[in-house]
Amino acid sequence: MQKPAVNEPRIDPEEILEGIRRWVEVETPSHDGVAVNKLNDIVEAEFVALGAKVERVPGRDGFGDVVIARSPWGGDGPGILVLSHLDTVHPHGSIDTPELKWRREGDSVFGPGIYDMKAGAHMAFYAYRHLLRLNEQSQLPITFCFVPEEEVGSPTSRATIERLARNAKHVLVTEPARDGGKIVTSRKGVGRFVIKARGRPAHAGVRHQDGRSAIREIAHQILAVEGMTNYDRGITTNVGLITGGTGVNVVPQECTAEVDLRVPDPTIAEEMCARIGALTARDPDVQLKVEGGMNRPPYTKDAGIAALFDHAKALAAEVGFDLQDVPLTGGGSDGNFTAALGVPTLDGLGADGKGAHTDYEQIYFSSLEPRTRLWVKLFETLK
Ligand SMILES: [Zn+2]
Repeated sequence: MQKPAVNEPRIDPEEILEGIRRWVEVETPSHDGVAVNKLNDIVEAEFVALGAKVERVPGRDGFGDVVIARSPWGGDGPGILVLSHLDTVHPHGSIDTPELKWRREGDSVFGPGIYDMKAGAHMAFYAYRHLLRLNEQSQLPITFCFVPEEEVGSPTSRATIERLARNAKHVLVTEPARDGGKIVTSRKGVGRFVIKARGRPAHAGVRHQDGRSAIREIAHQILAVEGMTNYDRGITTNVGLITGGTGVNVVPQECTAEVDLRVPDPTIAEEMCARIGALTARDPDVQLKVEGGMNRPPYTKDAGIAALFDHAKALAAEVGFDLQDVPLTGGGSDGNFTAALGVPTLDGLGADGKGAHTDYEQIYFSSLEPRTRLWVKLFETLK
């Protein structure tokens, strides 16, 4: 680890943690736009205090605003886009539960959304402030984008993310690190489909033969869809939700199944969307409707991403740790949108820890300082 000169401002992990706590203690379930905006206000004020130019894209459909903060230097040309989300999967009150109340146990610090991803979002902010404390500017302008509803697929912020990414040379995503500090250079694409069957209702005792069961039809479709999973090709399908029927003594008229699809590359994405879209009813008297498609395109490690990763790896070595990337992960993020536009994207640059989306979500305190140092170096060197 590099030792700073005596009077040089230092990167203080206790100070980073205090800042993370300020952001974690405002609970921000994705669907509560008012709650997310409370945290947006805090984040906006912290950036304004540093002289950043802040813009807010008003939320819609009940979601919070998108907050965009720009460095006052570097002009409007292509720069560094730092992508974070401020929502979490945890409902209100999680911070009052014994599992997720704010606490530090050894190297672990617990809190709702601390690992995914308020710690990472704050580390990037801290690195930016550190640059100012050093009286430095990055060579490229820096734009921060805080998304209010990533955990539900970024339905209202995607257009803003893509607009900002088109004007970026590099995208750095503050999602949590994986498996001992590894970062993410590729992610599977995510597809979502709704399969609806409409049959014919009948009294299950008196007129059974007149009925056409929508549930029976969907049962066949579930097996067909689940049968498309192919681990060797990196394809998974999961029917995660089903609804249907009105009573145990009624041949059901309606049934719906919802499908999650993960694919490793655009060609397979196209193939699988076509296969799922082409499902047909087995019972000719039942109508089948399939809706949906890719929600997040695959994020593949191309030459630009490989070069950006090599650069970050060299910087991490200067800081004193070995940066590795994980093999293709199934979890999607907003990095999928930016990488699919061809903009070199590094993801998973947040804190190390574990338990994203669980009641044991935690970060490792020891990861805060070295990884924030890496952020400072990325800001200093990217051009
Ligand atoms: Zn996340």
